[in-house]
Amino acid sequence: MSSETRMLIDGELLAGRQEFDVLNPATEEVAGTSADADASDMDRAVAAARQAQDSTDWATDPELRKRSMVQLQSALEAEQEEFRAELVAEVGCPVLTTYGPQLDAPLREALGWPTEMIEQFSWSRRLPDNDAFGLGFQTHREVWKEPVGVVGVIMPWNFPFEVILNKLGPILAMGNSCVIKPAPDTPLNANRVGRLIAEQTEIPPGVVNIVPSSDHLVGEVLTTSPLVDMVAFTGSTATGRRIMEAASATLKQVFLELGGKSVNLILDDADFAATVPTAAGMCMHAGQGCAMTTRLLVPFSRYDEAVELVKTGFESVSYGDPIDPANLQGPLISAKQRDRVLDYIQKGIAEGARLVTGGSIPSGFDKGYFVEPTVFADVDNSMTIAREEIFGPVIAVIGYEDDDHAVQIANDSEYGLSGSIASADLDRAMAVARRIRTGTLAINGGSWYGADAPFGGYKASGVGRQCGVEGLEIFTETKTVGWPTGP
Ligand code: NAD
Repeated sequence: MSSETRMLIDGELLAGRQEFDVLNPATEEVAGTSADADASDMDRAVAAARQAQDSTDWATDPELRKRSMVQLQSALEAEQEEFRAELVAEVGCPVLTTYGPQLDAPLREALGWPTEMIEQFSWSRRLPDNDAFGLGFQTHREVWKEPVGVVGVIMPWNFPFEVILNKLGPILAMGNSCVIKPAPDTPLNANRVGRLIAEQTEIPPGVVNIVPSSDHLVGEVLTTSPLVDMVAFTGSTATGRRIMEAASATLKQVFLELGGKSVNLILDDADFAATVPTAAGMCMHAGQGCAMTTRLLVPFSRYDEAVELVKTGFESVSYGDPIDPANLQGPLISAKQRDRVLDYIQKGIAEGARLVTGGSIPSGFDKGYFVEPTVFADVDNSMTIAREEIFGPVIAVIGYEDDDHAVQIANDSEYGLSGSIASADLDRAMAVARRIRTGTLAINGGSWYGADAPFGGYKASGVGRQCGVEGLEIFTETKTVGWPTGP
């Protein structure tokens, strides 16, 4: 399989003055190389997006948008298996995950649903006629939705295909142009998307630019340039804060999808044998997901039973070579991330949490950035491992007295991105769900995910929503107009 090295600027696939290697995190071998954009490439991409936004009919021609999004969908589907192999190689995600959230799930609907919504979206609405200032004549009034303009997209490495598609779909459907900066660890899938856009769609040059770089700061241009109207970022809360601050100088709109420390809340009437071991599902992709439920809340009345069950669950997680379809967990993305996870584990031990299982680099793994599925018990919600996003296969088991106490612990977090609740009584689970300050919740194993489902966070987990009608509206501006009713 040959990867695409070139970036996409103003409709052209360009080699770039330099290249950088992309490592396979399971083998530490080179998975491919990418053009390494510098600040001048980024400037050209931003100028091209501005030009396309202001002087092509992309923003005003819904038929062109629909047609070219359908073309892009077909082109992506034709290379689905190449994407699968490439994602496993550069992201280190288990191939199992590509049949769901890494590839097949977003490919199924992330472009398709926004394409359908081009027709169904409420582009304008009528307000009642009025004479607000008492001028003696009535005025018709309307609210119009228009594209926000040039969107700078800054990408993470953990679910890069999912994120690029769930950004591109709404951005394009709403008539915007964009400059996408992939994460330095995982540019190859984005470069491939760029080639397909250039070669197989009618998307006008400059509407989509894909600018990979090994230098984080090349992406910073997107947060400061006066030519960019909005920044859409997925990644860490720390970087999100920095982006928001940088964007304030030009008062850009910011859309941030950030970190989480979500709870998996097991109410005392739940079927423990059926639900508690499934907490190990958070080891999927080595825990590198912002919506992972990394705090397991169990009642003190059944605490020991729960710890035994979660231990069993974590010890049965199959991990290793991401190509092996039996594995749920692969490597961390990089040596840096692996070391960060191991540091958190040491902090957990130092602060007095009880290491129940895991905690180390597994034996026999000489290559690749692997960490064992790890369970901590006797965790107090004030400990570092209960407060900070570890982004690894590490769960903290926290006890609670009653439902009120559980809700209080769930909400005692800087974050509020996701979570899950289990109970034999759906009404009770729903009542608790209403009290948790979080953007998404899975109740009794249900799934909230979908291109039509808004996703995002309360508090430090973000600003705005991706997907759903809210995720279309976020890429629009609002204009209100009035004109006299009479002749
Ligand atoms: P990061 O947030 O620093 O990087 C994400 C993206 O932001 C990358 O494309 C990067 O190049 C870019 N970036 C970094 N600094 C920037 C700046 N000043 N201006 C503009 N763009 C900038 O994430 P990371 O360093 O790759 O990972 C660190 C931690 O982030 C992880 O351990 C994890 O906790 C978290 N993370 C969260 C998510 C999520 O979806 N919530 C995704 C990835 C990483």
